[in-house]
Amino acid sequence: MSEVKNVVILGGGTAGWLSAALMAKLLGSRITITLIESSSIGTVGVGEATIPPIKAFNNALGIDEKTMITRTNATIKLGIEFENWGQIGESYMHAFGNIGKAFPFCEFHHIYHAAKEAGEAQSLWDYSLNHKAAKAGRFAPTKNLTGTQLPGTEHAYHFDASLYAQLLAERAQHMGVTRVDAKVDSIERAPNGDITSLNLDSGEQIAGDLFIDCSGLRALLIEQTLGVGFEDWSHWLPCDSAVAVQSELPQDYQPIPYTRSIAHSSGWQWQIPLQHRMGNGLVYCSRYMSDEQAKATLLDTIPGTAINEPRVIKFRTGQRRKQWQNNVVAIGLSSGFLEPLESTSIHLIQTAIIRLIKHFPHTGICDSTVRSFNDQFSTEMTQIRDFIILHYVLNQRDDSDFWRHCQNMDIPESLAHKIALFKDTGMVFRHQDELFTEIAWQQVMLGQNCWPTQRHPLAEQFSDTQRQELLSSLSTLIDKTVSGMPTHQDYIAKMRH
Ligand code: FAD
Repeated sequence: MSEVKNVVILGGGTAGWLSAALMAKLLGSRITITLIESSSIGTVGVGEATIPPIKAFNNALGIDEKTMITRTNATIKLGIEFENWGQIGESYMHAFGNIGKAFPFCEFHHIYHAAKEAGEAQSLWDYSLNHKAAKAGRFAPTKNLTGTQLPGTEHAYHFDASLYAQLLAERAQHMGVTRVDAKVDSIERAPNGDITSLNLDSGEQIAGDLFIDCSGLRALLIEQTLGVGFEDWSHWLPCDSAVAVQSELPQDYQPIPYTRSIAHSSGWQWQIPLQHRMGNGLVYCSRYMSDEQAKATLLDTIPGTAINEPRVIKFRTGQRRKQWQNNVVAIGLSSGFLEPLESTSIHLIQTAIIRLIKHFPHTGICDSTVRSFNDQFSTEMTQIRDFIILHYVLNQRDDSDFWRHCQNMDIPESLAHKIALFKDTGMVFRHQDELFTEIAWQQVMLGQNCWPTQRHPLAEQFSDTQRQELLSSLSTLIDKTVSGMPTHQDYIAKMRH
């Protein structure tokens, strides 16, 4: 075992610069960091919707909301609206944060069901602060519902990925990271398989003790050099292509504080509203839709005029068999891919960096560290994978072979159990540290018409009157809290001031 002093990051996309910035901040006094990126290759250029934990990561880097909104043209994201996923014409939101009021031993949705059956309630989302604020186009960071201890809003961002990478690059270089703009041409290895240095097309050779592979879908070090192999999940998530295009905001358009995910005949389409433009993309399965059809469908349905040429990106869903092998750690697209349906890739980058810092091999790399890192990554990926498959398998569309295939496909046993448990009891089993909460799972299942056959008996402890009072007071409080918020537009303008 030899000390790890020189870290080399290959790649200057979101993964590379996030890794560089946090490692420089936390380990900068102990290690030197060199980041190699190739402006001639560029980055994947997508990845603009996030989930709430990004705020904690930004805080760790000293990036506050004002900076984020000003520097990356960010807007607020309160959730994702899923349109046409259950049946065509239906929609629901995976709103971040809380819904209703939690009771010990009995989830709120059981009480809501009792009320709905009695004709006293309409939509579960009437009791979601995030949903109501999103639909009203309003936002303010709110700790609690007005006058209560009940949780307030929970938000993330939509942002311009290239501006975010620029911001991170500035911070990282300010903290001592050396940036090299060149293309890696060849790779030197030691007899034990470790990488010793990268040879650049500039003639320079960059040596290191630990190499972070952030080379994107190419996976230049972890796969092309070390050949760790890939666990393919495309039989569960058959989409394998995306076409992305940016468009102008239509005149008088006010950016909405949520992402739209609109199912189409062979996949789904995203609309991510930024301050200055819209990010659009269509995810599809090439067995059911050609690239040309996908481009045409996307261009026909974007809300404004396209700013750039639509770009097709091919991917394979799954994970590397190992994310850490020898002295190479893969972070970002090089480590595996899950489609962006729940905006989880940037989050996975962040948790991987935090995990690497926790496991950092200062005195040398040992097998137990590597195994712990790989096991934790795989557990996290698998749990998110199941949540994404859930959206597909619960569709009830009968308009295309793609959706019929998804209804009838095999699903992982872990997911089958979760769905069965919810149908039988209304419960969601959540592992410790699992990213998506019980409320997130409930929203997708109920939003796609998967109802439990039973209610928890404790939901019956309320009389009709008590239940009505509870629901109407919650709804009133939420409305009052939302009406006290500025519009999303005003909030952004104030932050930019
Ligand atoms: P890249 O951005 O591809 O960067 C790779 C880097 O490696 C580049 O700097 C490149 O120049 C460098 N490089 C490669 N080879 C060499 C070489 N030989 N020499 C030198 N440099 C080299 N994530 C989300 O969280 N939310 C989303 O909404 C979302 N949407 C997505 C939509 C699509 C269609 C796709 C495909 C992904 C999406 N993602 C999303 C994922 C997100 O884009 C990525 O996780 C994120 O951009 C990180 O990418 P990366 O840095 O790993 O790779």
